[in-house]
This record gives sequence, structure tokens and C-alpha cells, in this order.
Amino acid sequence: MTRRTRPEDKIRCDACPVLCYIAEGRAGACDRYANRGGELVRLDPLTIIETAAEKGTPAVPFLGEDGGTDWDGDLVQSGRPFVTAVGAGTTYPDYKPAPFIVSQDIEGVDMVTVVTEGIFSYCGVKVKIDTDRHIGPEAATVRVDGEAVGHVMTSEYGSRMLSLGGVDHLTGGSKREGRVTCDALLKLCNREAVQMEIEGGARLSVQAGHAPVIDGEEEKLMRVGCGSATIGMFAAQWVAHADEVIVVDDHITGVLSEHQAGKALGVKPTGIRVKGRRSTPGRYFQVARPGTGWGGTDLADPLEILKEADRKRAWPGLRLLMVSTTGEQYAYFELDEALRPRSAPIPPALRASAERIAENCEPSLCSVLFMGGAGGSLRAGVTENPVRLTRSVKEALTHVSCGGADAYVWPGGGITVMADVMEMPTNAFGYVPTPALVAPIEFTMRLEDYAALGGHMDAVRPVAEVLGEDVRRVGQIGADPHDTRRYRWKGKG
Ligand code: SF4
Repeated sequence: MTRRTRPEDKIRCDACPVLCYIAEGRAGACDRYANRGGELVRLDPLTIIETAAEKGTPAVPFLGEDGGTDWDGDLVQSGRPFVTAVGAGTTYPDYKPAPFIVSQDIEGVDMVTVVTEGIFSYCGVKVKIDTDRHIGPEAATVRVDGEAVGHVMTSEYGSRMLSLGGVDHLTGGSKREGRVTCDALLKLCNREAVQMEIEGGARLSVQAGHAPVIDGEEEKLMRVGCGSATIGMFAAQWVAHADEVIVVDDHITGVLSEHQAGKALGVKPTGIRVKGRRSTPGRYFQVARPGTGWGGTDLADPLEILKEADRKRAWPGLRLLMVSTTGEQYAYFELDEALRPRSAPIPPALRASAERIAENCEPSLCSVLFMGGAGGSLRAGVTENPVRLTRSVKEALTHVSCGGADAYVWPGGGITVMADVMEMPTNAFGYVPTPALVAPIEFTMRLEDYAALGGHMDAVRPVAEVLGEDVRRVGQIGADPHDTRRYRWKGKG
């Protein structure tokens, strides 16, 4: 016989709209809250950032009476604990004060930080994938486990961009679509790998702070520039060793002898002619189709982009270097008597120049920026008059951070923020099965400004009160620019 637990043996979690009944010793649906001896507890410890190795630029320019700054705005400074919202808990519905409203003396200024794990139904991630490879057409649907979770955005310089999540995928599709989207966002924000497929494009493995894996192949380098920029950067190193150099690029293929850089260096016309649409001298668009070959084209053989050489200008023995925008692919040719390019051993100086291009490329990485809107009820946990918080943020009196990471606040209405998940402590994100993402958000301001905007002053506690034994302490790394983990574990948790 199955023993039914009586509702009175359970406690009700009211930290999100799901309102779980949780039995003794069990956790709720999100694994964030549990029933311990009849008490509702948050399972992850409150996270404190304890030290910082570097000072950031001032985030909030608090002006003193003399016009100088009385605090440089760096929230996460050496020797000063910063209470993040990671593990702080959620208040729902938000008319209640935020879980922690912490006062702290910062260089003689009374400051307050209001921390909440916000439930974000309006949220997603922007993903930057450093690669030349064509991963799929703009606006193509991105799928995880067969469900649509986002789309391909406009490419940026050397990077492909994805927009994933958002309220339409979380709430506007099937229940499974919402669940899969939320799970993918949670993993990406917590720096785990997510496998995805782009309609009409590539299969990807994306993980913040790691190289992307595209159709099973790990990407290594981010391009040094477009084909034209590469000509500009390296022309001087080529002129003594090659008569013509073509930098193959899906977007802007560069041709040395026609390019302004080549002309300035006295490179004479070679009669080497390139397919595609000529934009300006030495710059060609659409020399091939997008793909995963040379310079983000579909080329395995770069000679496919050449037309027959101009017989009036080209000459037998002409030295031709073809190279990609990362320097990973290169080939050297000399024209034969019939003015056809023939593969030839590459001179050491040209090989070195290709290696120099590769040396100038940065490692390819995936970057994941959490983006969410705190324009709704979350603000009520901060103040009785929510619009004042929005105004205070816009007036730069209140600094917004996510798990201690500086958040970019979008102009316009609401408090729509963007923050790099690599700058947050690990496992900073959670979820609730509504579905929505749970993300840390902190508002820091002067105590007097907090009072002025109608803050919950009765709920303000000194920082020493929350720095108990059971907090998780992390320290900032920051000293090594190649170390993409900004925080390291310091103690418990
Ligand atoms: S899903 Fe989590 S936060 Fe929501 S009610 Fe259940 S235990 Fe509480």
C-alpha cells in the first residue's frame, strides 16, 4: 500500500509561483529549496566575493561636495566582502523586501546592497562564437533536442552570434519547448556545454569560456581581420617575397596588388583576377559561397576563386601566395608558361608570414552574456515605489550587478541588463519549472539614496551579520588575462 503523505506533514515554499509542498528531508521542484526539520531552507549557500586582484573602472560616479569622487565605484575591491545574490533566495510575490538588504561602510560612505535571486521569465543569452566558419544563415532557427530555442543573429567581426531563449521560447511554444529552452539557458549560464543544431547549418557544442566545436571539429583561432584588413597589416612583410597575395575571406577577400596598401608599397599590377563582386580596389565580396573552408568560404581549393590571368599583365614565374584570414590555410603558386598557377614550395619568409597571421589571432572562444529584464515586480523587493529604482539606475545612482559582475543596463524603459557569465561565481544560476531562469541581481547605492527612493529600511542589516560560517566565499582571480575564470573558490560551499 502506498503511504500518502498528508499535506500537513509538508511545508509550502512560496519563493516562486509553483508553490511546492515539500516533505521533510526533500527538496522542491527546482532543487533550490528544501524542508529541513519543518523549516524552508535555501540549499545553496549565500556567496560572498572576498578579494579582488584588480580595480575596475568606476561603475557609479558618486560626486563629493568638492566635485571629486568620494568612492571610486568599484564594488568588488580587495579586502571588502561583496554580498552577491547567488544563494540569497527569492521573494515571491515581490511586495516583500529582498532576501538580503546589506549595509556596508565603503570608504566612509554608507552603502547598501539589495540582493535577490530574480525569477526571470523575460531572459535569454547572447552567444558570441569566435569563428570564420559559416554556422548557418542569419535568422535560422537554433534547436536543442529538436526544440527551437533561438536563432542566428547578425555576424560580428570574426564571430558568429546567437540569440537564445527569451519569453517566446520559454512560454510561447509547447511545454517541452519551454522546458528545453530553460534547461539550455541554465546550462549555458552555468558554463556547461550545450549541443545545438542550426537549421540549414552546423552542429555546435557551445560552452562559455571554451572553444566552440563546429560539426565535430574544435575551432582554434579567431581571424586576425577581414581579407582587406589582413592585407593592410601584413603587406610590408610580403612585398619582397611575393608578386601577388590573396587573402581569402567569405566577406571581403583582399588582393595585394590592387589594394591601397599594395599600391602604397609600389606593388605593380599582376593580372591575377579574382571572381566575385569588386567593392573597392583590392576588396572583393562573394568570391565563393559561405562554408567551413578557407576564410569561412566553402573552398577547399583556393584556386577556385581565380579567373584566367590577364595575359597582358601576368608573366610566367609570377609568385602568388594565397592565405586565409587565420593563417591556418596557405598555399604558394608560381605561374607556368601558360600563365596557370602551379603549386610550388613556399619560400620560408612567406611561410613565416602565414604563421605570423596565426600568431596574431586570438584563441577562439564562446562567450555567453546573460540578458534579462528586471523591469517588473522584482523591483518591489527593493522599494515600495518601484519606478524610483528604475530612475535611480538610469541616473547612475544605483549600480546593477549580477553575481558581482558589472551589468550593462540598456537605455530606454525598464531595467534590462546584460552580464558576462564568466565574471560570475560558478553555479550562479538556477531555474524554476514555470519555466524561468533564476539569476542573481544586486542593486548597490548610497544608504541615503536608498531611503530616498522608498527602500525597505527596516530590513537593512549590517554586512557583518550575514558573513556567517555557512557562506560560500569566492575570491577574484583577474591577474592573468588568459585565465577566463574570474573567481576561484576560497572556502566553504
Ligand atoms: S520550484 Fe523551487 S522556488 Fe518554486 S516553489 Fe518549488 S521549491 Fe520553491
